[in-house]
Amino acid sequence: MDFNDIIGHDNIKNNLRNAIRNENVAHGYLFQGAKGIGKKRMALTFAKTLLCEKSEDNPCDTCPSCLKFESKNHPDLIVEKPEGKSFKKEQIDNIQRDIRTFPYEGNKKIFILEDIDKMTKEAQNSFLKTLEEPPSYVVIIMTVINSYSLLPTIVSRSQLIKFNQIENSLIEYELKNKYNKDEKQARFIASFSNGIMGKALKLCESEEFKVLREDLIEIIDDLINKEKFRVFTFSDFFEKNKENIDDIMDMMLIWFRDLLFMKEIVNEDLIINKDKISILTNECQKIPKDKIHDIIKVVKRTKNDINKKVNFQLAIELMLLKIQEV
Ligand SMILES: [Zn+2]
Repeated sequence: MDFNDIIGHDNIKNNLRNAIRNENVAHGYLFQGAKGIGKKRMALTFAKTLLCEKSEDNPCDTCPSCLKFESKNHPDLIVEKPEGKSFKKEQIDNIQRDIRTFPYEGNKKIFILEDIDKMTKEAQNSFLKTLEEPPSYVVIIMTVINSYSLLPTIVSRSQLIKFNQIENSLIEYELKNKYNKDEKQARFIASFSNGIMGKALKLCESEEFKVLREDLIEIIDDLINKEKFRVFTFSDFFEKNKENIDDIMDMMLIWFRDLLFMKEIVNEDLIINKDKISILTNECQKIPKDKIHDIIKVVKRTKNDINKKVNFQLAIELMLLKIQEV
């Protein structure tokens, strides 16, 4: 694993590699970005490069340090994440003690601390002292989804690196060439994962996601072909898959957006659910354009309501009834 294996995020890669070349590596980094966007992979690659005995700005993959790193056996790399819901006091104490101990092998010791927002305010405060005056051999890389949830002093003591979504086309290319997905599958997964490589890879391997999608498409089709409409059976599906409700609502939005695109333009390239084109064509003939607009509004509103923790079942049933009405 080296920097060339990381898809996208070119600015961040260049920035980190320059820092190594110019011997300008900070003591504290804060990697911020969505779940699955590649923060940990970047942190590990950066750590591996810093520990490498030979190479300048990319791991050599042959020195004893790189080999130990790959076998997850490097004594100067410490990766910690919250045990359960938050970092335990004992964990923080151990990390702080460990930070004061010299490296075993080279001249660097790297700490990767995941989901740093899962530290209590007290723990953050006590950790801050370490971050303010770390020993010269220490590099601390922290990851967080959103830095707003941290003490401002933690953020200001670190170099903040923001990870943005990468282009869908990069993900699509990767899925086709490295993961053997056909063009249509790669297209759907890349669009659905919205620039987040980790999400795309998870979806690639998930049988559950495939079933979820097929079931949902069937439900939408039944809703549109009204005669088979059974609101309670349908709301059961949502209840059962409550944990994946964000994915389900996104899939619905993408589905109706596709229908809208089919109405408005005749360019099949813009369709995301390309593998389901015959179902879409059929449905497209049944719903007028303004009704599709209305459905999209209803789904968006329901998605918001659910995030605001309203009564789940009620919100879903109202949505299903409204989709049928329009
Ligand atoms: Zn090496």
